[in-house]
Amino acid sequence: MSGERDDAGWMGRFASASGGVAAKQCFFTGFVLAMSLLLAVSASSLVFSGPFLAAAAALVLMTVLTGVVRWASIPHGWIAVVPLFDIAAAGLMRDVFRADAAAVALFAFLPALWLAYAFGQRGNLMATAAVTLAISLPTVVRAFPDIDSVVITRSLLVPMVVAQMGFMVALARSRTLAERARTRALLGEKEELLSAAVTQERLMENIIDTIDMGILVLDRNGRVAMINRAHQELSRYASPPGQETPREADLLMRFPNTAIPVPEDQRPIARAADCETFSNYVVGFGPTRGRGRKVSTSARQIIDVDGQRDGAVIVFADVTPYFDAARRQQRFVAAVSHELRTPLTSILGYLDLVMDGGRVPAEDLAHLEVVSRNAEQLLTIVEDLLATQSVQDSGIEISRTSVDLSQLTRRAVESMRHEAQAKQLNVAESIDDTPEVSADPSRMTQAIANLLSNAVKYTPERGGITVSVREHHGAVEIRVSDTGIGMSPEEQTNLFTQYYRTPTARQHHIPGHGLGLSITKLIVLAHEGQISVRSTEGAGSTFTIRIPQLRRSSVS
Ligand code: ADP
Repeated sequence: MSGERDDAGWMGRFASASGGVAAKQCFFTGFVLAMSLLLAVSASSLVFSGPFLAAAAALVLMTVLTGVVRWASIPHGWIAVVPLFDIAAAGLMRDVFRADAAAVALFAFLPALWLAYAFGQRGNLMATAAVTLAISLPTVVRAFPDIDSVVITRSLLVPMVVAQMGFMVALARSRTLAERARTRALLGEKEELLSAAVTQERLMENIIDTIDMGILVLDRNGRVAMINRAHQELSRYASPPGQETPREADLLMRFPNTAIPVPEDQRPIARAADCETFSNYVVGFGPTRGRGRKVSTSARQIIDVDGQRDGAVIVFADVTPYFDAARRQQRFVAAVSHELRTPLTSILGYLDLVMDGGRVPAEDLAHLEVVSRNAEQLLTIVEDLLATQSVQDSGIEISRTSVDLSQLTRRAVESMRHEAQAKQLNVAESIDDTPEVSADPSRMTQAIANLLSNAVKYTPERGGITVSVREHHGAVEIRVSDTGIGMSPEEQTNLFTQYYRTPTARQHHIPGHGLGLSITKLIVLAHEGQISVRSTEGAGSTFTIRIPQLRRSSVS
């Protein structure tokens, strides 16, 4: 309550039910004195009579007293003394005027309402009793013995009106108090919730900071809202020398195992800000040699309770040790593969000699054919492993020359036609003549052949394949569509990662090693091109390669 007085200022103190005694008393005495001056104009003898002046002086004295008393240090109930005293003074003044100015009785209204305002219905009862004693009783006594119904009605009128008005004021007061209590309770609840939220946030921040994976949160406008300690440490590997807090676009980021910088729009944060969700997107942080790290990134969009996008969270995991372990394993596999290739070639050579010699009985020949087929399959696997190893070790090196991609694609389609016919696939071509581009013909043939062979492999019998080439926005666009098994959106996110095979492909028992697309992507990136996929599970897939047309002068 003292807080209420301190915070509210003079007006607040005046309006306060429990405080502002001096302010209210000042107001009342001022009002009574001003009205008395007005009355003095026509009834000076009454106003300047002894009892009236005594009542006015008593009021002034009480006003001075209210200013001196320290109300905060005495019990609240003592406040009632002041308005009760005021009612008594008003009664005295009213008695001086008697029937000549019944309106003087109205002086008692202000302190009566004050009582109702300060003490509710209890205060109203006190005020009504005080007004009856101070105004009605003297009226009846003065009329004695001629007391009739008019006298009684006139004497009861003022207390009745006081009781009615006091009742309304007390009611309004109790409503206000209840409302205030409700607001206080709500505010308390809100504060509790707020402090719980702050505690929760601190806990989250601590947990997030102790996690050794980098975490970065974007707000809905793509601005960084939070970065944890691990991400700051990881980012240092990608900071250009001399730059403490570089912009995202300045970070040294490249595709893993290559020197090719990741274009700005393909960086993890840019992709997440572009509303993309992805998993295990690996990028290299830092320079090609030395202190660089391989970082696996994943992004998820944050959706708020109304279903609206509220930002994104991107997680960065340092997978360099796994890459190093995998590299060691691959070297071992490569060494073993290398050792296997020579004896396998020799086995196949001698098998051919034996089978072509014409001395093997027909029954044994069939068995030898099975042996030969399996040995050939083994050799293919060994060669695939060796080819991947060579890409891992030296990256994709391209030797550029002027290439007609339309012609190159036509030849690649011809080479796979036999395979497609074996599965009764319908192959449609829509190949425009396109301008020559600067590219490595054998690497581009490898990339296109990979897409064509996948289309044949992942399309069931009697399906269809469409190959198109066209010039589009300064690039040559090669598109391979099929009506095959397709992929779910989740499967597509990991598609270009080494050794990744979709569960759908595994369920259909289609053989493969999950290497072709990762090599294809490296080839396309080495040409500063792009590769993308659109696919619907059960309906088919479309792979698109775009190779930019370089200016003549840059064609070597
Ligand atoms: P591989 O075909 O030897 O497994 P790739 O790297 O060429 O390796 O392909 C990786 C995976 O992508 C495949 O295992 C398959 O799950 C999926 N995939 C590739 N091309 C298609 C396609 N045209 N239709 C459906 N799935 C495909």
